[in-house]
Amino acid sequence: MILGVPDIDARHRPAIETDAVIIGAGPIGLFQAFELGLLEIGCHIVDALDAPGGQCAELYGDKPIYDIPAVLECTGRGLVDRLLRQVAPFSPGFHLGQEVTGLQRQTDGRFIVETGIGQRFMARTVFIAAGVGAFRPRELKVDGAQRHAGTQVFYRTVDPSATAAQHVAIVGDGDDALDWATRLANATVNRPASVTLIHRRDHFSATPDCIAQMRAACAAGRMRFVAGQITGLVDEGARLTGLGLISPDSQVLRIAADRLHAFLGLSPKLGPIADWGLALERKQVVVDTEKFETSEPGIFAVGDINTYPGKRKLIVCGFHEATLAAYGACAHVFPGRPVHLQYTTTSPRLHALLGVGSRLAEVTAGAEPRQA
Ligand code: FAD
Repeated sequence: MILGVPDIDARHRPAIETDAVIIGAGPIGLFQAFELGLLEIGCHIVDALDAPGGQCAELYGDKPIYDIPAVLECTGRGLVDRLLRQVAPFSPGFHLGQEVTGLQRQTDGRFIVETGIGQRFMARTVFIAAGVGAFRPRELKVDGAQRHAGTQVFYRTVDPSATAAQHVAIVGDGDDALDWATRLANATVNRPASVTLIHRRDHFSATPDCIAQMRAACAAGRMRFVAGQITGLVDEGARLTGLGLISPDSQVLRIAADRLHAFLGLSPKLGPIADWGLALERKQVVVDTEKFETSEPGIFAVGDINTYPGKRKLIVCGFHEATLAAYGACAHVFPGRPVHLQYTTTSPRLHALLGVGSRLAEVTAGAEPRQA
């Protein structure tokens, strides 16, 4: 699909011109942007999620990691915060909440990268840092849910201004579900007619603080918790008006619901990457181990998405891959220009890029360095 595709210049929407597009704002995509920055390669980062961090933020945000070099312990979210601070001097463009759907080589060798909402980039190089695929909300497996999606059934979103006088049902057991249920229950404006939290059992994965607040709102009569599984939707005409549930002790329940908000977690989908004509092995993108380049020159793959002999899906391995991929990209972005290795410790040029000159001067003069 990549080769032999005609130019699509005829389309109206102007493309953002850039040296590099990184697909995925997980830990490896973020570090890729940093390594590109050190080599003066500008980039834009696209992620299907609304926030950066990939698996670290979404799957184990509050859990500790112990094998990041020289970091004794940090949480998944803590690591993402550090990576974001580290890359900040290079100001990569972030395009969140949009999946990269199209990748096509142009006749001048550059790539058109297109997202699901029509944002286009014209890039000299592309870095696929897509992990296990684009994270999408897990959907309710109940007849009719699809029919109401976006009008009365919502995934991982709540618009509090639309819940006034509505019977609101929230499904889930994590922080997001409990936070939203409590917030709507305690609302003083746009008060819902009722708020019901539903989870299959009275046991939650949310933090103790969230659980305590939810229980307090229930005790105050502002919301209720119902243990059970949704078995069906109740429609009147074309409108959703209620939910059928079965409780853990097999009782059939029915509750009123004008709006159903599901927080059922995320599932990754490789999605369009499989269609881009790249060499794949068991849904992983095949790369060399010199530059981590794919079967298409100018397209690199780093982190959990790639495969090569001895591959290990570890963050530290992805950091190494991103470093060598950045050097590999220089031949495409600055053809013919020699690339010299520079140390961040000693290179004035890198200090200028990182904006650390003044901090070093303070250290040299014996002053306390500013906190990063
Ligand atoms: P990801 O973190 O998966 O990020 C990929 C991003 O790309 C996602 O945000 C996704 O939405 C986005 N994306 C994918 N396709 C598209 C597309 N088409 N368009 C737009 N965006 C797209 N590793 C360690 O080294 N140490 C540990 O202690 C450790 N603990 C772990 C604990 C758990 C519970 C899990 C699940 C993993 C753990 N890992 C650990 C593994 C580590 O999290 C992964 O190796 C790492 O997240 C891979 O980073 P990545 O950037 O390659 O991919």
